[in-house]
Amino acid sequence: MNAFEALGLNEHLVQAVADLGFEKPSEIQEKAIPVLLSGTTDFIGLAQTGTGKTAAFGLPLLQLIDPTQRHAQALVVCPTRELCLQITNDLEKFKKHSKNIFTEAVYGGASITMQIRNLKKGVQIVVATPGRLIDLIERKAIDLQKVKYVVLDEADEMLNMGFRDDIDFVLKNTINRESIWLFSATMPPEVRAISRNYMETPKEVTVGKKNSGNVNIDHQYFVVPQQHRYEALKRLIDFNPGMYGIIFTRTKIDAQEISERLAKSGYEIEALHGDLTQQQRDKVMGRFRTKSLQLLIATDVAARGIDVDGVTHVINFELPDDMEVYTHRSGRTGRAGKTGICLSICHSRETFKIKSLERMINAQFHKVDVPSGKDVCRKQFFHFMDTLMQADVSSGDYETYMPDLMEKFASVSKEEVLQRVASLEFNHFLKYYENAEDLNRSDIRGDRRQPSTGGDARDGSRKERTDFNRRDNGYTRLFINLGTKDGFYKASFLQFILDESNLKKEVLGKIDMRDMNSWIEIDKAEAGRMITAIDGKRYNNRTIRMNEADGGFKRPNDEGSGGGRERKRTYAPKERRSFR
Ligand code: ADP
Ligand code: MG
Repeated sequence: MNAFEALGLNEHLVQAVADLGFEKPSEIQEKAIPVLLSGTTDFIGLAQTGTGKTAAFGLPLLQLIDPTQRHAQALVVCPTRELCLQITNDLEKFKKHSKNIFTEAVYGGASITMQIRNLKKGVQIVVATPGRLIDLIERKAIDLQKVKYVVLDEADEMLNMGFRDDIDFVLKNTINRESIWLFSATMPPEVRAISRNYMETPKEVTVGKKNSGNVNIDHQYFVVPQQHRYEALKRLIDFNPGMYGIIFTRTKIDAQEISERLAKSGYEIEALHGDLTQQQRDKVMGRFRTKSLQLLIATDVAARGIDVDGVTHVINFELPDDMEVYTHRSGRTGRAGKTGICLSICHSRETFKIKSLERMINAQFHKVDVPSGKDVCRKQFFHFMDTLMQADVSSGDYETYMPDLMEKFASVSKEEVLQRVASLEFNHFLKYYENAEDLNRSDIRGDRRQPSTGGDARDGSRKERTDFNRRDNGYTRLFINLGTKDGFYKASFLQFILDESNLKKEVLGKIDMRDMNSWIEIDKAEAGRMITAIDGKRYNNRTIRMNEADGGFKRPNDEGSGGGRERKRTYAPKERRSFR
């Protein structure tokens, strides 16, 4: 007998999971499905992300629904719109062979009238985010009286996000329910409280160690000074050419700024955060899912519960404040039995958090050095060689061109051809990383707990500055959001920026114009003047944006705290002198 059938699932569902290629139930499915199929037992399922919780509750739900009754019989409550859509999507697949079962996703940010209309059609399973659900209840668009099953998915997340009152409201108003099924990756006291207040002797199942991380995930961390975070991020991306990853930031501003900067440098990246319209979010998620985006940068709220297949890396641009959030972030990779890597960029003052994380998820973290510029180049090079060797030449009509190619390259050695091919691909990398600084120096300047090494640190910071100067050869690159589409050609563009800034042509280096934006090399000493003169001006009803393209990444609050530290350091000796 098929293993899913053995759990008590009907043939339609068994067929559907077979169609999905599920060979055997995951542990949580094995333990949850038989209990849930009874329909009357309250249930708590604790399992890390990626263990198949959706099917664990989705399959029993689909079996318990009475298709002849066209009203809401089950309510699945989950924290975000993305998750809501994902669950509905999964249910859709699970019920492929089951007849007359209707599901509807209801969430904020989309037309409520449309959702109300759809609900009226006689939906039996409603998948909802808490806010919108309450809205619908208050508008009497959904009748909870006949709801038999309430599923709380990612319960810990919903509580983290402040949905406690909403959940209370839903549980208080589903008085005829027969059971509550709660799923969570972790078991904080607030989740415990729900079970105490609303559940009757729930059956609790824990898969793996409680609060444990996924064993398929390799946790690594990098200690870098605050001002090198962005550069370190870039290196980690460059060092992993096949990366399909999600980067987490604490704030929307960070997500937005970093994505813009990386996109400008040519990375396929987009940000996902609460300020986007739903349509924009869908678009970003769609592109990421189909892998036309290599990187997604997201805030915790926006990325909660996202199940995207094959994410190879999760990067923490900063460690989260709340340690449990780490489990959720890292759980975006290493899903469905695959392995994944979670990289965290931390400041030396954050390393104590690593210890508590190790305890919490019961896994070891590996301290790794940020790769050097050379390492990155080497890695990219090997990746390129692999790509070159794996290029598919079977389909094109290359035979036709071969004689010409052979003739053209007759006098050129293989070495030279390879060199040229490589240079096409690599010049920008080699240039960017030549003289790249070592990012691993710890930021001892700001770290008052290590006063004895203060001398080294100062040497270090001096070295950093000289490296930096050497790297940009006196020029810095500016980004501007004007390009050929604005009706410029190179000469008129040059004229425009020089006129606006009152600078001489001699201060400029290379100008690189694209459709929508351009890059300008400029004497480092004059860059500020040009930005001040041009940034914020209007051109053809558009606000011009101009900023440094490759400089050290400064977040607004870095400026404050970094400056503060700097000041203290310079004042200290003076103070001491005046005391003498
Ligand atoms: P969770 O909710 O626990 O984080 P999901 O339900 O999103 O996890 O499932 C994670 C992934 O594992 C999904 O892509 C899902 O299709 C897949 N999956 C679930 N159950 C099985 C199974 N029994 N066999 C193989 N893959 C499965
Ligand atoms: Mg889930």
